[in-house]
Amino acid sequence: MIYKPQEYRIKDERMKPFIDESEIWEMLEEADASKENVRRIIKKSLDKNRLSLQETAALLKTEDPELIEEIKEGARTLKERVYGDRIVIFAPLYIGNKCTNNCTYCGFRASNKKQKRTTLSHDQIISDVKALEDNGQKRLILVYGEHPMYDADFIADSVKTVYKVKSGNGEIRRVNINAAPLDIEGYKKVKEAGIGTYQIFQETYNREAYSRYHISGKKADFDWRLTGLDRAQEALIDDVGIGALFGLFDWKFDVMGLVRHVNHFEACYNVGPHTISFPRIKAASDSTIDPKFEVSDGDFIRLVAILRLAVPYTGLILTARETQEIREEVIRLGVSQIDAGTNIQLGGYSEESREEQKLDHEQFEIGDTRSLGEVIDELLDKQYLPSFCTACYRKGRTGEHFMEFSVPGFIKRYCTQNAILTLAEYLEDYGTPEMKEKGYKLIELKKKELKDTQKVEQLEERLELVKKGERDLYF
Ligand code: SAM
Ligand code: SF4
Repeated sequence: MIYKPQEYRIKDERMKPFIDESEIWEMLEEADASKENVRRIIKKSLDKNRLSLQETAALLKTEDPELIEEIKEGARTLKERVYGDRIVIFAPLYIGNKCTNNCTYCGFRASNKKQKRTTLSHDQIISDVKALEDNGQKRLILVYGEHPMYDADFIADSVKTVYKVKSGNGEIRRVNINAAPLDIEGYKKVKEAGIGTYQIFQETYNREAYSRYHISGKKADFDWRLTGLDRAQEALIDDVGIGALFGLFDWKFDVMGLVRHVNHFEACYNVGPHTISFPRIKAASDSTIDPKFEVSDGDFIRLVAILRLAVPYTGLILTARETQEIREEVIRLGVSQIDAGTNIQLGGYSEESREEQKLDHEQFEIGDTRSLGEVIDELLDKQYLPSFCTACYRKGRTGEHFMEFSVPGFIKRYCTQNAILTLAEYLEDYGTPEMKEKGYKLIELKKKELKDTQKVEQLEERLELVKKGERDLYF
């Protein structure tokens, strides 16, 4: 049966685009967190049903250690059952850090005079993209401060530049965007440049807290930001990513905010967001962060498990803000995409401009500084299948996460095979002999899981072509 989002509409919340804060607090207060109810909710999610806000509130309210373990176990099971062990890899590329906003937690904020301001020139973009390609990357997210210079034309131009760069072994096949909200005309321009996902994080869904952290600039307007991705939908960008910055406000409230935002997309556009991000606040140049809302590692792990269960079909993105140890733990709970080989220093990927990592040149400190090769190596050791797949987006199969989740056999028909093909490309072009050996062993294992002999034959044919030097083969 094909997933029909309208069947998952939460009727009483239909067409209510705004966050009703008192309703969220009430739900968190009144949720039934009894053992029976929490177990019923976990089972509902494992049966591939979307959870309501009330049910999400019950999971959030649970403080019983035994039940918290069951929630985490539920998330792990869901991840194994639905998504398997593929992890999609991408890298962020910071294009410019000029910014007219004053987000008190961010190193790029206008009032931070210590920050060295840089905007990559056309040539610098090319040399950074070449360096990323030479490293094996295929998927990028371009990141911009909010500044009149970084308007829709500028963003569209930089996207086009990235797509044009071809180096020895490859090209970037998907460019996502993390930038300020645009108007409808602006979104049309960036869509036309061929973007994948447009990401905007609400940071916190609590209006009062939001105004404390966003002191001036356009981002101070909570509603402009909250409706940012509705305008993207109007411009027919249906591939959008939402997120909250954890550590700004009560984490339970913001998980509810995220789920409420998902409900809004489902109700209004019949399609949920493509991805949810849940960055945790990190030290940044000259920033002061109120420790009151700091999210402990334990709570962070909990919140990812709850998000996995609440919105089982949505991609979850984990970034290198987190340390290797936390990343390993959280990946098992249902993360589908991670960045690797991350360098958030402007111009940091190309040799010529590489400098020592310094906070005054970055937006914040990163926790996982391993190279792409090291991350891939680790994933292979843990029997995860690293994937650089961009097939659905290029074949026009949008809403891939719905399909992975709801179309029986979709993962085996497309995702596993494409992950294997992109991994084989990586091994051929960038792998050390040891990594190749490990990688091809894993590929053999994963091929067995496909079972269908016809599919295995098709895959083997293409794998042979990859070994002979053909590239960019996908189903
Ligand atoms: N300027 C655009 C904006 O604010 O939406 C896009 C780029 S901004 C650099 C990307 C995200 O980084 C923000 O949405 C915020 O969630 C996150 N961020 C900012 N400061 C951070 C910090 N100190 N630690 C972790 N994440 C941070
Ligand atoms: Fe500027 Fe974005 Fe940083 Fe805010 S989070 S100061 S808008 S770059």
